[in-house]
Amino acid sequence: MENCIFCKIVKGEVPSQKVYEDDKVLAFKDISPEAPVHVIIIPKNHIENVNDLTKENSEIISHIFMTVKDIAQKLDLADRGYRVVTNCGKDGGQTVEHIHFHLLGGRTLQWPPG
Ligand code: 5GP
Ligand code: ZN
Repeated sequence: MENCIFCKIVKGEVPSQKVYEDDKVLAFKDISPEAPVHVIIIPKNHIENVNDLTKENSEIISHIFMTVKDIAQKLDLADRGYRVVTNCGKDGGQTVEHIHFHLLGGRTLQWPPG
């Protein structure tokens, strides 16, 4: 976890534009936004990706989705809609190996993705 950029953001060693924070999760603006709203939501504890979820550590995922819901409401996305994405591994396009959820919105998003 020493070289994990998202762990560094959690510790405040790398700055971020925080959108929401509590003792378990952090949400911040993506540094390279793909949509007018592009927020990254992460657990503060390091979990690499979906493959590393277990019965013991997966409770955080429902907490993250409740956080997504609250942020979407706050940013006025709830009615018009939005997308929540988690990329897993090489073929999934995961570039940061700390599980995270992209909240994308503010424009009509294309489907399917490339
Ligand atoms: P992935 O491709 O792993 O699903 O998504 C990683 C996301 O993290 C990318 O959208 C990328 O722009 C974002 N990201 C990478 N490094 C940083 C950073 O240092 N700060 C912020 N705010 N976002 C980052
Ligand atoms: Zn990490």
